[in-house]
Amino acid sequence: MSLLEVDDLRLYFYTKRGTAKAVDRVGFRVEKNETLGLIGESGCGKTTTALAIMKLIKPPGQIVHGKILFQDRDIVSLDKEDMRELRGKGLAIIRQEAQNSLNPVMSIGKQIAEGLLVHDKIGKKEAWERAEHQLGLVGLDTKMISHFPHEFSGGMKQRAVIAMATVCRPQFLILDEPTTGLDVIVQRQLLSLINHLKQELGLTALLIAHDLAVIAETCDRVAVMYAGKIVEHSDTVSLYRKPLHPYSQALLSAYPNLKGEKKQLRSIPGVPPRLINTPYGCKFEPRCSYALEACKHQEPEMMYQDGRYVACHLFQA
Ligand code: SF4
Repeated sequence: MSLLEVDDLRLYFYTKRGTAKAVDRVGFRVEKNETLGLIGESGCGKTTTALAIMKLIKPPGQIVHGKILFQDRDIVSLDKEDMRELRGKGLAIIRQEAQNSLNPVMSIGKQIAEGLLVHDKIGKKEAWERAEHQLGLVGLDTKMISHFPHEFSGGMKQRAVIAMATVCRPQFLILDEPTTGLDVIVQRQLLSLINHLKQELGLTALLIAHDLAVIAETCDRVAVMYAGKIVEHSDTVSLYRKPLHPYSQALLSAYPNLKGEKKQLRSIPGVPPRLINTPYGCKFEPRCSYALEACKHQEPEMMYQDGRYVACHLFQA
């Protein structure tokens, strides 16, 4: 049984200029203990999908169709109180630039312990001890528990944020660009930490990243998003060895590969489409060098191909 299943999710933003289909007929499953990567250009719907799972979408955004099943409970139909209970121990998220959201006038220890007081309903002393242990688990000096955020470097703050998000032992963790804005050495340390925590805490995760190397190192499977839709869904090795969808191919060709044959990097021509009043047909058609006549008028359905899923007319039976 999947721990999380997103089924035909449609999330629209109703604006004065029109309806933006930020997430359109998106579906995927995440099995227990696996990590699914979500990749694609900025504005393709990755973060919106993550916020929908956490039920943190604010108006004018609205889930208009579909289900988000977490342990067979549909998150879409849960009320605020149910969601408050589910967050922390069931679902947790580390948002982009999360270190900037640390409270500057509260010690790191108090901020980590806060989640335990709310969700585990334990006493202050025990919460403090567990916060201290958690600090050690993410590789920070436990003596720093009484320190304030300004005394931490960027990488240390991100570790503290990971400690906060995982202290209640969530079953499902969403990491939205967890290494953005950090230097490469700190990025590598954080990736090792995330992989270590996955083993230690038995985490199931959704990892959103622009960096294809981060996804390759951390994820079991990958879903590629373009203009609010998933266009390819595959195990990580197959996707990196032989991407099927022309957009996945273009994405990988734009990224340097340190191993194997050296190839010229290619940028993807054009820009992603606006999500308001998008034309019929394949959303990638204006940028696709393989486009057929049918691509202009007919949207490709997701097809099963050799254990992988791809939405492209080139693979329609
Ligand atoms: Fe290109 Fe057509 Fe496939 Fe879209 S459906 S990616 S335009 S070949």
